[in-house]
Amino acid sequence: MNPKMNPAELVGRGNRDGAELFRNWYTDLGETARKKEQAAYVFVMGSFNEILKSFDLPVVFPEINSLQTAVRRVAHEYLDEAEDHGYSPDICGYVKADYSTQIRGGEHPMGQIPVPSIAVLTNACNTYIKWAEIWERLHKIPVFTIDIPGTRESGTQTWSGNSDFENDRRYVEAQIRELITKCEELTGKTFDIDKLRQVLGYANDMSVGWKRIIELNKSRPSLFNALTDGTIYLGVANGFRGTKEGSDYFKDLVEEMEYKAEHGIGTLTDEKYRLAFVGVPCYPIFRRFNELFTEWGGTFINSTYLWFASGGTNRGFEYDVSKPIESLAEGMLISVRDAMDSMFHQDVMLDEMIDDFGVDGVIYHPIKSCRTVSTGLADSRRHLMEQRNISTLFLESDMMDRRVVSEAQMKNRIDAFFEGLNSRRHQALAE
Ligand code: SF4
Repeated sequence: MNPKMNPAELVGRGNRDGAELFRNWYTDLGETARKKEQAAYVFVMGSFNEILKSFDLPVVFPEINSLQTAVRRVAHEYLDEAEDHGYSPDICGYVKADYSTQIRGGEHPMGQIPVPSIAVLTNACNTYIKWAEIWERLHKIPVFTIDIPGTRESGTQTWSGNSDFENDRRYVEAQIRELITKCEELTGKTFDIDKLRQVLGYANDMSVGWKRIIELNKSRPSLFNALTDGTIYLGVANGFRGTKEGSDYFKDLVEEMEYKAEHGIGTLTDEKYRLAFVGVPCYPIFRRFNELFTEWGGTFINSTYLWFASGGTNRGFEYDVSKPIESLAEGMLISVRDAMDSMFHQDVMLDEMIDDFGVDGVIYHPIKSCRTVSTGLADSRRHLMEQRNISTLFLESDMMDRRVVSEAQMKNRIDAFFEGLNSRRHQALAE
């Protein structure tokens, strides 16, 4: 720790600095919009920020823009507008909020969103592909889709040194080389491999930091809430990937968490239950949703969201800057594949997490408008309960649409869940 740093300033610094970086990011996007400069639209599962930053292209994450409309309690206005234009109530709410942002000329509660010059996406979610087609139609921009080979069956992943892995890696590398050519055409700039090396170095600091803070949350009491604090860290991990600010932020965050671990400073003063969260947060009542758990002394120590919404950064993959493009392909293959596994095969990871993090209960949050994350969660839950003697709760709502979020109903279910956890614990003590 910096000897001049006052502990009172250190604890909570990650949240304060994260919020400020996030505001600055939107301010910069507003400037880009005002000056009508180029910007790239990307997604959290495989943003390829590493390449885009090498061309100084500002990145826009429409998923983050959309969830911000829900956190700021105006999502219904955006959703209604898109539904008036024919979008179904059943489809991904992020798409609809973004569509309305586009037809409003980029008007957004966080500031002005620039129009895209290019969209870069992966196959991590099939909605990405149809979503980008909307921008293609509205803005007549190139759409660059990178196909990342996913896990064919849980437990069959291959790794460096295996010929199947090498074939997949080369397949991704060829696509990255095409993306570089496309960015050269778009920006009129020549690709600078040393700049990419620098960006990869910053991205490495972030990956190391992200993995470390998740590990540190095994501490008792846990140091940060994966659902609330974790979402702030996620914002920085996505928006500032491959930048000096992002690198510094994660070094500082590790310092804060190590300090908290050393001094036993938890996110709750009285932590009673350690919970894992599966799915996407309930953004329409973001703070309140969390309070329904913390009021019982429950806190989220980890989540599948911290894995897939960071694009697999949780794996802590470090690029080899001596062979940047080859290594970027390997890192993208491993990380984006892991993000997909976090959605489709999360039962294996949860099984390990229960032991590693001392989890008392698993909260499943399937949502109406994200089929990608929610499909199969009921089966996955049943499977986990067959394997493990663990309490689980299945709470259905949405990440955007307040029409299907009933706080009163949720509270009843959550209260009953904690009463069950409580009596289970008393029973175990009595045996
Ligand atoms: S993962 Fe879910 S929320 Fe994200 S774009 Fe796909 S369908 Fe929408």
